[in-house]
Amino acid sequence: MYDETADAFRAFQPVTVPDSRLDSPLASEEAALDVGTNNLVACTTTTGQQLLYEGRDLFEEFRETTEQIAHYQSLLDDQRKSSNRIDRLYRKRTNRRDYAQDALVRDLVERLHDESVSTLYVGDIKDVLSTHWSPVVNEKTHNFWAFSRFIDRLESVCEEYGITVEEESEAWTSQECPECGEREETVRHRDSLTCPCGFEGHADLVASESFLRRQNNAVGSMARPVYLKWNNHEWREDHSSPSIAVETTANEEYTDQSTASSGNIAHGDSDD
Ligand SMILES: [Zn+2]
Repeated sequence: MYDETADAFRAFQPVTVPDSRLDSPLASEEAALDVGTNNLVACTTTTGQQLLYEGRDLFEEFRETTEQIAHYQSLLDDQRKSSNRIDRLYRKRTNRRDYAQDALVRDLVERLHDESVSTLYVGDIKDVLSTHWSPVVNEKTHNFWAFSRFIDRLESVCEEYGITVEEESEAWTSQECPECGEREETVRHRDSLTCPCGFEGHADLVASESFLRRQNNAVGSMARPVYLKWNNHEWREDHSSPSIAVETTANEEYTDQSTASSGNIAHGDSDD
């Protein structure tokens, strides 16, 4: 009995050791995510930190492998069949995505834990898939980033760190001006969100910030965002901090609804 008490007491001690992963967060800070394709994850915390995980190169790689698969498929006599080469390409495509996704989740959750975040808000999947994107984009995004898998991983790693994941509606957050609250007249183009009131910001970061403010009204001012890029092994901070005006022609259709819905998604990508 005495030992049990001692154990319980010792087990409580690590709470005061800042480096222990098993600490429950001391402060109850919160964070919200915006999940996309150009930028896989944008995140804002109540401590004023913003994170942006860049997805362009990963998506490009995924798209190239998809084209290779289609090419080899077209060479088969019976196109309902597969080949070893095709199976290998599918596996390669999935493994690369999963590896990057798992690394992203761990990097993100470790950073949130360092900020003493105890609650993380994510958009519910219906919102994510339906709110602003055309069906064509949805299908591509869905295949590429595999939202359900992402959320599953996120929940399990958050649990490991004592962070609660809550699904909430993020409707409108990607179109709402954080300065004046305008929803109808804002323009989302590529990575930027502009408002007639003069506001201009990074669309995904703004969305995660608006989403967080909706859940928690104690959100202060923001520090400089941290940009993260995948180098095929880990997510590294990119200090060149791409401006929101950076040229993103190849992915324009993923944020610009007017071109996405006109069906010209492959235009400019074709080899012929
Ligand atoms: Zn405005």
